[in-house]
Order: sequence, then structure tokens, then C-alpha cells
Amino acid sequence: MRIAIYPGSFDPVTLGHLDIIQRSAKMVDLLIIGVLNNKSKSPIFTVPERVNLLKEVTKDIPNISIEAYEGLLVDFAQERKASIIIRGLRAITDFEYELQLAQTNRKLNPVVDTVFLTTNVNYAYLSSSIVREIASYGGDISQFVPNTILQSVYDKIKSIRSV
Ligand code: ADP
Repeated sequence: MRIAIYPGSFDPVTLGHLDIIQRSAKMVDLLIIGVLNNKSKSPIFTVPERVNLLKEVTKDIPNISIEAYEGLLVDFAQERKASIIIRGLRAITDFEYELQLAQTNRKLNPVVDTVFLTTNVNYAYLSSSIVREIASYGGDISQFVPNTILQSVYDKIKSIRSV
């Protein structure tokens, strides 16, 4: 059984992420989306909220499981018997960081390899932070996140702004 992990913050999941998810799910038997509880970032969505948004937007893809994780990605991969890490590459600016991450992970656990999928050109500019920024100014994010979670993203940002 070929198992891959697609890790990230997904704060929130965007159409760019969803594109990588759809394409990589076709390549493996099981795709585990690993939602990182990253202590060095201050996310707007809690981990359970991000997991739920991902569940909503992937509910029609059968071979997907969404899980939160903490700690080293390679340890999580080993626990789940995954041999592949999926990452998306948008631009050359992603490359240096992603290369370092992939090489470090391979050093830590040579059994797990990283596979890069290049972004869908329609979403090359897209990031969760851009979505958060536009939504925080009341801008239209309907071209950036899946329709089914649009309202949840607006509601969350509104609740933060009204605090
Ligand atoms: P992280 O904090 O780990 O970078 P993100 O949620 O920002 O988490 O991204 C997770 C993965 O998805 C990364 O590999 C990132 O490069 C990729 N990614 C993010 N946005 C896009 C996009 N628009 N197109 C392709 N890949 C993307």
C-alpha cells in the first residue's frame, strides 16, 4: 500500500492546496493530510477547525484521511507507514526552503522521500496568508478558497475583527 503525507498549516485550505490534494490522491493508495500544530506561527483557525475545513472540501475523495500532528514530520510519516511526503512548489521563492526541508527530512529518515508537485498555474500566486489578508479587509475571496468553506472563513475573520 502506497501511503503519502501532505503536510501543511492549511490556515485555511485554499484552491491551490486542493489542487495538490486532488492530483496527489490519484498517485497513491492513501493520502494523509497532516495538519501541523505549528507553535512558531499564530494561526487564525484552530487545528480542529482546519481539520474540519479540510474534511469538508475533500469529502468526495475516497482515499483521504485528515489528521493533526505535532513534532517531526518524519516521525509522523513513520508512525503512519508513509513513504512519501508531498509538497507543492509555487515559485522559485519556495524552492530554497523546500529543498532544505526535503534534504533534512531525508537525512533524518532515509526511508521517506519528498515528492514535489508544481502548482497549477492558476493558483501560482495563492497562499493562505493572502487569503487571510484579503478577507480581513472584507475583500472577495471566492476565487481563492473552495465555495463550501467561504462562509466559515468570512465568519472566522469577522469574529476575530470584532474582538
Ligand atoms: P506550510 O506552513 O507548511 O508551508 P502551507 O499550508 O502554507 O503550509 O502549505 C502547505 C503546502 O502546500 C506547501 O508545500 C506549499 O508549498 C503548498 N502550497 C501552498 N499554496 C499552494 C499553491 N497555491 N499551489 C501549490 N502548492 C501550494
